[in-house]
Amino acid sequence: MDITKPIDTGEIPSSGSHFDVIVVGGGPGGSAAAAYNALNGSRVLLVEKDTWPRDKICGDAVGGKSLSHAKELGVLQLVDESPHYVVDSILFGSANGSEVRVMLPKEAYEKQGLQSGYALPREQFDYLMFYRCQQIVRENGGSVIQGFSVTKVMVEGESIDAKITGVGGRFGGPRSEGEDMEFTSALTIGAGGFNCPVSRKITLDVFDEPHRDDDHFCGGYREYWENVEGLDGEEGPIEIHFIDEVIPGYFWLFPVGKGIVNVGIGMLVSEEKKGKRKGSWRGLKKTQQWLINDHPRFKHRFANSKMIPGSAKGWQLPFGSPRKNPPSFQPRRGAMAGAMTVGDAASLVDPFSGEGIGNALLSAKMTSKYFDKKVHSDGFPANAADAYMEELWGVLGKELSNSTKLQKMMKWKRLTNWFIKKANKKEEIGKMMSEMIASKDAQTELWNPWFLFRTLILP
Ligand SMILES: Cc1cc2nc3c(=O)[nH]c(=O)nc-3n(C[C@H](O)[C@H](O)[C@H](O)COP(=O)(O)OP(=O)(O)OC[C@H]3O[C@@H](n4cnc5c(N)ncnc54)[C@H](O)[C@@H]3O)c2cc1C
Repeated sequence: MDITKPIDTGEIPSSGSHFDVIVVGGGPGGSAAAAYNALNGSRVLLVEKDTWPRDKICGDAVGGKSLSHAKELGVLQLVDESPHYVVDSILFGSANGSEVRVMLPKEAYEKQGLQSGYALPREQFDYLMFYRCQQIVRENGGSVIQGFSVTKVMVEGESIDAKITGVGGRFGGPRSEGEDMEFTSALTIGAGGFNCPVSRKITLDVFDEPHRDDDHFCGGYREYWENVEGLDGEEGPIEIHFIDEVIPGYFWLFPVGKGIVNVGIGMLVSEEKKGKRKGSWRGLKKTQQWLINDHPRFKHRFANSKMIPGSAKGWQLPFGSPRKNPPSFQPRRGAMAGAMTVGDAASLVDPFSGEGIGNALLSAKMTSKYFDKKVHSDGFPANAADAYMEELWGVLGKELSNSTKLQKMMKWKRLTNWFIKKANKKEEIGKMMSEMIASKDAQTELWNPWFLFRTLILP
């Protein structure tokens, strides 16, 4: 499929139209939420502020969880037919230079007819997701609008009686002269990423609860490079390096095929602010320049490389790490009467790996389990919103909490150095890491002291 072509999304509905479900944001979470709800019989309106094709700043690693949803929605076939890198392993590097390559458990994925993971530019993955999902929405009587920025989230009633009833916005962005339009719905799904207007409305305006928090938000910076030494194939490892200056975040080298490598850095905002290069993604950019130009382990790998112009960009990752004493739900309030949020809008990024696409797709599917257009025609009720948030944390809470522990552990440089050196020598540790990446049960086992003692300490 030619992903440079515009996507025809059909006729624009007239202002004032009513839908069962409105989805704000056409990233992976929004596209999937729109498609799953359309497949469930709802008449859906999917709105996106950008126009395809569009870039998204990311590491571009698409893991097994994401691929299983992509398969379910008929997107995987499109991905398979377009260029991509097959991830067969992860190479972990520690601050003192030890490295271990952990093979991913191929068989576990193959049983589901999947690869263990892919890496491909988000411009391409998101295009394919949006392309297929807008087809599903329109085949089921819904509508899709691109280039339409939601600027207003409509609420009826106050405090505990408040209910979201639809959205308003305009073409060409909030400051443009474009036409204003409004749409109403029984359910509005917020899928607008880390600064989603629906999620801001729920947390800040209606419930007066926190939305953004430096201890749970991560700064991310990405560039594309050509010709990085050792990463030129179409199948192999992705690399994660725990470097002194970036811990507890990491420096990544993720090949995306055709000789191009996504190179980036991610770091918790609160940690970044403590350091010398504080403040914004510009600090991360400087750190990355230093790693590429001067770091003894990396500079030779970039000696004959070239950065793709225009690819240097920063963005934020809202982590799903559990909050201390949250006022209502973990990781934060993500639904209310008339609305649910998914993906980054619900703060669901894995706090250790930085993966967010999988949880965006999982939460997107879960919204369709909670919304029933016949039962909820007068509006999605508050008790169903609470049940959605409880199930979401029930399903994801354990793995997000374990990832938070791992993220915190990475602050102990000596421990990371020791662990990676040990893993390099002891096959069983590599196997344990591989299983941890693939299985929730193995992640729980990690915190079992006897298991740790046996695997790490005994010869
Ligand atoms: C540097 C970096 C590296 C990352 N690496 C990885 C990785 O390797 N693997 C991984 O799985 N995850 C990674 N992530 C996380 C991943 O990018 C997100 O978790 C994922 O994109 C979430 O999908 P989403 O659909 O919830 O939100 P988004 O992808 O952010 O999509 C939101 C959409 O909503 C639209 N929108 C926003 N506001 C409005 C509005 N007002 N009106 C209409 N539309 C609106 C946006 O244009 C966008 O298309 C990374 C993130 C960053 C920043």
